[in-house]
Amino acid sequence: MEPVEKKGINRRSFIKAGVVGTATALFAPPAFAASLQELAEAESFAFPKPVYRTLGRTGMKITVVSFGAMLTPEPEVIRAAVEQGVNYVDTARKYMGGKNEEIVAKAVKGMRDKVFLASKTLPESRSKAEIFRDVETSLRTLGTDHLDVIQLHNVTGKDRIFFDETREALTLLKKQGKIRFCGVTTHKNEAEVLNALADDPEHLFDTCLVKYNFKTGKDVADGIDRAAAAGIGIIAMKTLVGGYDVAGLGKLNQHQAALKWALQNPRVTAAIPGMRDMKQLREDIAVMGMSFSYADQRRLDRYARAIAPFYCNFCGSCEAGCPQSVEISTVNRALMYAEGGYRDLALARATYAELPQRATAAACVDCEGCSARCVNGLDIAAKMDRARTLLA
Ligand code: SF4
Ligand code: SF4
Repeated sequence: MEPVEKKGINRRSFIKAGVVGTATALFAPPAFAASLQELAEAESFAFPKPVYRTLGRTGMKITVVSFGAMLTPEPEVIRAAVEQGVNYVDTARKYMGGKNEEIVAKAVKGMRDKVFLASKTLPESRSKAEIFRDVETSLRTLGTDHLDVIQLHNVTGKDRIFFDETREALTLLKKQGKIRFCGVTTHKNEAEVLNALADDPEHLFDTCLVKYNFKTGKDVADGIDRAAAAGIGIIAMKTLVGGYDVAGLGKLNQHQAALKWALQNPRVTAAIPGMRDMKQLREDIAVMGMSFSYADQRRLDRYARAIAPFYCNFCGSCEAGCPQSVEISTVNRALMYAEGGYRDLALARATYAELPQRATAAACVDCEGCSARCVNGLDIAAKMDRARTLLA
């Protein structure tokens, strides 16, 4: 039998000629993973003993490598993880246009008591009615009477954390038992968000799902320390720094090294790498119980050098310099979903579509010299041009 890895799309071998391959290669239709039986025959794999940490004031003990479901088309992959002890699954209303919650529902059917379920409101939801609508829809779609965690999706500043109607809705939903805990997700302006959570006198929010990886700056790391000390459960996302596979790194597994790097911080309860298929599941959960080594650091150093010409950390520092007020960081995040290890054009386009038209790459007028300056020296105008081609 042909090894399964050769049949399915392998994110690790996705981009071989640098990051920017041909459009055809980038957007070939995804080949789904083969059946678990095939996978079992293809390669034996011993699932590691699960390792748990406590998620802040929630008291929930969750696996340090938990399941980010956003990319997973097959319930069997999630189910296999849960059967092996992975006990926290993160989804969102918006992933796959709502289909992702349906996939998670199928995956955990009959095993609801073995898993904590976390979902997210729609990124634009603010009012009491909108928050209630989102939670009710998630409950119905996931086939459960409660969510363990509901998160406000993509929070970029403290205003949303202290928005009265949103807080009122979450407080009521907790009282009604429809949600046990609430949190936020953030991958821009994270330090402000983390500090706002730490400073909230009412301690409404219990968790924060935050972009955290070896490229993270001190302000965010300090924010994580403060929030964790205040009892906020910290979950890391985007730990794989785009999950790019770049030519010239040989067999070095920089993705496992990046995951280990994030988990060496005891303030971080867990990471939720997106796992599309069984190969990625095996690769990511194998990290449980491993420690970060000198060899891992060398891998990350080489990986960092390889992705430096194109990796955007979404810091937003450049945006003030753009006369058109293009949301460069979000455009680049959408590009990463298309071109990085995510290889998910639908997600890329959905993320891009969240932007108002005036802030998309379409608003970029390609001004001479591009007055927006990247702290990492990226060619911003070229990235906007690419976004127009791929995502508009
Ligand atoms: S080239 Fe585009 S992104 Fe750069 S400053 Fe001009 S409008 Fe903004
Ligand atoms: S392009 Fe550069 S400055 Fe702008 S968000 Fe990305 S890393 Fe930050």
